[in-house]
Amino acid sequence: MTKTMMGSLRELQKIDQEVRTLRSEIEAFDPRLAEVEEPALRLEAEFGKNRDRLEQMRTDARRLERGAEDKRARAKRLDERLNQVSNLREEAAVRTELDLIRRAIEAEEQEAMTLLEQVRRSEIALEELEEATLAARAEVEPNQEAMLAQRGALKDRLSRLRARRDVLLGTLGDAERRVYESFHGSGRKVVVATLTEDGACGACYGMVPLQLQNEIRRGSTLLRCEACGVVLTAEPEPEEETPVQSESGEPESEGMEPADTEAAQSESPGA
Ligand SMILES: [Zn+2]
Repeated sequence: MTKTMMGSLRELQKIDQEVRTLRSEIEAFDPRLAEVEEPALRLEAEFGKNRDRLEQMRTDARRLERGAEDKRARAKRLDERLNQVSNLREEAAVRTELDLIRRAIEAEEQEAMTLLEQVRRSEIALEELEEATLAARAEVEPNQEAMLAQRGALKDRLSRLRARRDVLLGTLGDAERRVYESFHGSGRKVVVATLTEDGACGACYGMVPLQLQNEIRRGSTLLRCEACGVVLTAEPEPEEETPVQSESGEPESEGMEPADTEAAQSESPGA
C-alpha cells in the first residue's frame, strides 16, 4: 500500500465528513426559507381568494342586470298589447302579468344595486390587500436572496468536494476502493487509523498482534484492524495546515480522536 494511496484514503475520509456537514447545512435552509416567505405567501393566497370572490360578484351583478333588461322588454311588449285588447277580461289578464313583471324587475334591480355596492367595497379592500401583499413580498426578497446566496455557496463547495472525491477514488487500488466503499456505504466515518506507538489500533485502541504490527510498519500491503476493520498505517497523521471544516463548529473526525473511538467500537466491527 503506497503512501499516496493512504493519503487518498485519509483525504476521502475528511471529505466525506465535510460532505455530511454541508448536506445537513444545506437541508437546514429549507425550513428557514419557508418561514421567511410565509407572511407573503399567506397574503398572496388571501388576495387570490378575494379577487376570485370579487369576480364572482361582478358576474352575478351582470346576470341580474341582464335579467332585468329582458323583463323590461317583456313589460314593453305587454304595454303595447294593452292598447290592442278586445275585452275587459283580456285587459285584466295582461295587467296582472304586467304587475308581476314590474315587481320582479324592481326586486332584481334592488338586488343588483346591493351587489354593486358590495363590489365597490370589495374593490377598495382588494386594492389595500394588494398593497400589503406587494409590501410583504418586497420585504421577503432581500432575506430570501441572502439565504439563497448562502445556500448556493455551500452547494458550490459541495460540488467541488464531490469532484475532488471522484479524483481521489480514481487513485485507489481495487482492494482499497472496496474497503473504502464498504465503510462509506455503512456510514462509518473512520477508514484509516494510525497504529499507536505501543501497537494499538488508532481507532478502537485494541491491541494489534505483533506479527501484524510488523507488517503494518513495513507498509507494503493493505492491512486492517482485526477488531474494528479500519485500515491501519504506521504513518503519522499528516499535519493540518487549514482545517477542512470549521463553520459548523462540529469536531473534525480523525482516527486518533478519542471521541471517534467509541463510535467506531459501537459500529459493527470488521465491516
Ligand atoms: Zn481497530
